[in-house]
Amino acid sequence: MSDRAEKVKRLQEYYQRSDERFKRWQDAGFRHNATPPHEPIPDDLIDLRCEAKTRAGTPCKRKDIYRNGRCKYHGGASSGAKTAEGKARQLEGYRHWQEEQRKRTDETAQETAQNESRKLRKVALLHEPLTNPNQEP
Ligand SMILES: [Zn+2]
Repeated sequence: MSDRAEKVKRLQEYYQRSDERFKRWQDAGFRHNATPPHEPIPDDLIDLRCEAKTRAGTPCKRKDIYRNGRCKYHGGASSGAKTAEGKARQLEGYRHWQEEQRKRTDETAQETAQNESRKLRKVALLHEPLTNPNQEP
């Protein structure tokens, strides 16, 4: 395990302990006169950097990292819904989006057809022969 990976693991353990302390305090009803003692973050974990490879090829320098050891730009894409309920919700949203797209496309097609017929009428007027019906041949 690299030095950085080991540090990230220790950072995750630190956050885990912090969560457990908070949970115990929450279960005890947030008694303000019994706030849990603060555990300072270990000194060597304070300025831990993201260090993900950037597009420039250099390591990312951001220090505001999540528990996975990466910053908000390098945390990785979402791996999507896991539960059946979540997947159903995603699918519902996608179907809704599809429906909206279809409606928009239909409206645009209608407008285009209207504009085209307007244009055709104008062109037809321009090409009518310039004859004066009152004029004698
Ligand atoms: Zn980063």
